Amino acid sequence: MSGDLPIRTSNHAITPADIDPDAFKVLRRLSQFGYHAYLVGGGVRDLLLGRPPKDFDIATSARPTEVRRLFRNCRVIGRRFRLAHICFAGGKVIEVATFRAAPDHDEDDGPIRDDNEFGTPETDAVRRDFTVNALFYDPVTDEVIDYVGGLADLADRRIRTIGDAVVRFREDPVRILRAVKFAARLGLEPDDEARRAILSERYALRKAAVPRLLEEIVRMLWQGAAARSYELMAELGLLELLLPEIAGFLGRPTEEPWKPLRGLLQALDRRHNGEQQHSIGVLLAVLYWPLYQAIIAELPDPDGPKLRKLAETLVAPASVRLRIPRREIAVLIASLEGQVRFDQARRRKNTRVAFARSATFPGVLDLFELRREAETIPSEQVAALHMLARESSNETGDLSALVDFDPFDEEDAGEGGQRRRRRRRR
Ligand code: ATP
Ligand code: MG
Repeated sequence: MSGDLPIRTSNHAITPADIDPDAFKVLRRLSQFGYHAYLVGGGVRDLLLGRPPKDFDIATSARPTEVRRLFRNCRVIGRRFRLAHICFAGGKVIEVATFRAAPDHDEDDGPIRDDNEFGTPETDAVRRDFTVNALFYDPVTDEVIDYVGGLADLADRRIRTIGDAVVRFREDPVRILRAVKFAARLGLEPDDEARRAILSERYALRKAAVPRLLEEIVRMLWQGAAARSYELMAELGLLELLLPEIAGFLGRPTEEPWKPLRGLLQALDRRHNGEQQHSIGVLLAVLYWPLYQAIIAELPDPDGPKLRKLAETLVAPASVRLRIPRREIAVLIASLEGQVRFDQARRRKNTRVAFARSATFPGVLDLFELRREAETIPSEQVAALHMLARESSNETGDLSALVDFDPFDEEDAGEGGQRRRRRRRR
């Protein structure tokens, strides 16, 4: 290990009170039985940044079977690399992994021999992706242990790969997207080496496991840093590889076509509450909407079938490339065309009912709400969609109220209208 590493320091911001009490119990019990046991990964990183961690993962010198002997509420999972899951009330799971050895061959090539599988704290640290993700916290000594320079990188707000960036991105190209995700979410910058390696190695994403790509594309949308994530994706030439249709339309983040998308992404970010609130279809619809809107603005008379065809054509290449699940494609297409179609649908009573009762209507509504936050939308469109939303959520009510209702009728839209609809329902 180079320089002054490893560092063991008590000069850090983590206090035992920050750590999930169940994770703390697991750490304490492991060390009482003579094993090393550290808090690792994103949990340590987030605590050092003063952010609430998503999960509290533990790495230990105990083998999975040894962990199981210590905890009754424990399951050993995984075929190749076995992990212990310790289960607590309310469905909480604390993941305990034995320190892993440095992989000496492609991990996807056949089984790893058992005696090779486990390693030391140091090998476990250096096989991780970024220095900021490889810090350990030892609750016994209250020290942060740093084998890779992660503390300095956190202080300098830098995302840096452990070891040669080109090598690490070639080993696993999804790390490129992880670099963007962490940089955006944590307010860090990829260092120069990582940036250069992303630009030179990004084509390897074409060979990466497609479900992992889609997962990262979607995570970047709902984890609270969508605007910054997608700007970085564009700056680093990743958007043009993953979603070339959209990238071609948007150009550089400094250019005009980015504005509407940035507004929508910022609206998503403002709603972030730690959970994924929107379906994959709606999240992807956010990315497509500005392009779709620009195209229909050019169409002389966009009727229903044309709107649908256009949405289908637009998303078809990505749906194949990224193997987007069929039901999410349906939501994506409906959310796009629905933005325009509801305005037409409200004029025809029967269409209006079918539209508001369709399975994909909630997606239309979600995207509309985001647009309402990001764009200036005519107030009559807002009123019309609210009316449809109200009526569609009333599953037991008869449909005559919806059929007869006119959002532009003063009386109907106000108190009187509601009274009248209630009367009709009886
Ligand atoms: P999040 O807050 O998003 O969960 P995290 O850092 O916990 O962030 P995970 O994807 O949950 O990220 O992975 C846990 C840890 O496992 C990471 O912190 C990192 O040390 C390691 N890791 C995950 N994916 C990789 C990878 N592709 N290559 C190397 N190490 C990885
Ligand atoms: Mg995690």
